[in-house]
Amino acid sequence: MTFTYAVPEEWEMPACGRLARVPLGKGASVGIVAETGVKFPEGLKEVKPLLELLPEDLSLKPTLLRVFEWAVGHYLTPPGEVLRTFLPPGLFKSTAAKGERARPRAPMIGFGEAVAPSLTEAQRVAIADILELRESFQPFLLQGITGSGKTEVYLRLCEELLQRGRSALILVPEIALTPQTVGRFAARFGDAVGSYHSGMTEAQRLQTWWGAQSGRLKVLVGTRSALCLPLVDLGLIVVDEEHDSSYKQEERFRYHARDLAVVRAKEEGIPVVLGSATPSIETMENTARGKYRLLKLPLRATAGTLPKIQLVDLKLEPADPETMMSPTLTEKLEAVLARGEQALLFLNRRGFAPYLLCRGCGEVPNCPNCEIALTFHKRPAGMVCHYCEFHQKPPDVCASCGAIEIQPMGTGTEKIEEVLQKRYPQTRLARLDRDVASGRQRTEEILSSFAAGELDLLIGTQLVAKGHDFKRLTLVGILLADSTLNQPDFRAAERLFQIVTQVAGRAGRHDLPGEVVLQTFRPTHYAVTSALAQDPEAFFQHERVYREEASYPPFHRVVLLKLSGTQSPRVEQASEKLAEDLVVLFGRHSEVRVLGPAKASMEKLRGKYRWQVMLRTSKFEGMRRVLEEKLPYFEAQLPAGVTLHVDVDPIGVF
Ligand SMILES: [Zn+2]
Ligand SMILES: [Zn+2]
Repeated sequence: MTFTYAVPEEWEMPACGRLARVPLGKGASVGIVAETGVKFPEGLKEVKPLLELLPEDLSLKPTLLRVFEWAVGHYLTPPGEVLRTFLPPGLFKSTAAKGERARPRAPMIGFGEAVAPSLTEAQRVAIADILELRESFQPFLLQGITGSGKTEVYLRLCEELLQRGRSALILVPEIALTPQTVGRFAARFGDAVGSYHSGMTEAQRLQTWWGAQSGRLKVLVGTRSALCLPLVDLGLIVVDEEHDSSYKQEERFRYHARDLAVVRAKEEGIPVVLGSATPSIETMENTARGKYRLLKLPLRATAGTLPKIQLVDLKLEPADPETMMSPTLTEKLEAVLARGEQALLFLNRRGFAPYLLCRGCGEVPNCPNCEIALTFHKRPAGMVCHYCEFHQKPPDVCASCGAIEIQPMGTGTEKIEEVLQKRYPQTRLARLDRDVASGRQRTEEILSSFAAGELDLLIGTQLVAKGHDFKRLTLVGILLADSTLNQPDFRAAERLFQIVTQVAGRAGRHDLPGEVVLQTFRPTHYAVTSALAQDPEAFFQHERVYREEASYPPFHRVVLLKLSGTQSPRVEQASEKLAEDLVVLFGRHSEVRVLGPAKASMEKLRGKYRWQVMLRTSKFEGMRRVLEEKLPYFEAQLPAGVTLHVDVDPIGVF
């Protein structure tokens, strides 16, 4: 929220961006001076005075203030949410800012080589192109195939910037899944490197923030919340794996860190590099239109070549229901294990079985909060909701008919692990999904023992798809490519293409050739055929036609107005009223389409009923301004117990 305070007469007028202790309610809080010289607010008898100005060296830089302002407007979100997201929580505790800065921090442990490998020609060209534009704003798409050495490009850019006395910000999707990336920066730059992510304590985050603000840290590697760290003399922003959906925050302040990184780079007047093997359709389109400059890394940096992908049509060659593996995949797996190499099996479904079924009456136990089937887990035994974490013991008898024949149906990663371990007792095998990887340490343990060759076979969900580098991995099996396609989401095909390419890219990155077996029921879908041909350009050309015809991004912008509440009829009525109001509001604007109201794809989630109204437009700014003006009215109209959230440029299904 923005509040107005008086500056005591004997003080000098503080600059915008200065932190100040202010009275708030019965206590005090720390705020930021957003504007000075404002008129005395109407309807108020008095404004309270500021209590204290925090030291000037804690002030926010004007560029960051402008980024915050842009975010408040674009995402139609309250300023307080933006500050809460981008400033370390410790900063708002009125005394914290002083004590923390002197404390030495634990040294970062780097693994990976401290000596830089030699560069390929494509890497050299990319680096030279980016450095040429060091003093001006320019977004780059660094499109490098998996294993082409994008991280080495980032490292060299940082090296050059450090020599010029400037700093760099590197965003990565998830720190826990990419400890290798952080490690490589630490190995190269030692004490000048810091990291920042939500897994850190308040004190650690405050220290990193202060390290950036004071100029001690020159290279920061962090997740989306690191985007607005106040680095001194920032010279470059990198968004690695720019297509990754974890850059989008899905609650409260629903921003996209990639898009906001481009905004920050513009404010700072510096280059921003978006790296990916499978760029998002938005970024591809911006590149096609010449807004972003394309840099390609078409070859693998190491000896490896891209793996061969073999398609298995599950209609013609059915998979074993226990393992979900076709005879082709089984045969290849056995050969790889016999040769002492490594294999990875990917399935986007954790747990033992997707649901339990009563053989007596057909009843499927559902989550009481979300009304979808509970996933059966064997160890520890339980039925778990993957949306709200609700869990209960599996029943001994059916709750509706009393029969005792209750069977797990279908296959998840836990079951595959069990069946394969029985079938290949000599094989050293592990599973990596959110059930085993709830702790960051366990994830790292599994990944590093696989990397060290202490495991032969790894079975996992998308956790295994990210940028890991395994030297002896020669076979990747994608058990069911289609599972992503069946989601009611205009990005389903894009997601399928990306995940298949990323998982396949784990194989054969070094001297051993890699092979991928892709199992699917839809072998002719363009996402499958382009992934098979390893051709992102072909996928993009196909996908953009569909997006344009259907009026989806990047051709139109989408805003979702999401309503939720515990009482179904109220939410439904409120969304009907909202949709009617929006039709009236935008009736004269033919470029705005109002769709809905519609039930969310998960109609009930965590005990709340959810509806949504979708707005699509080719002229976003005009629509945004109208919405900004009318939102307080819409919010005031809501019946008790119903809340409204605005999601500008949504990426997931609601
Ligand atoms: Zn029953
Ligand atoms: Zn649930």
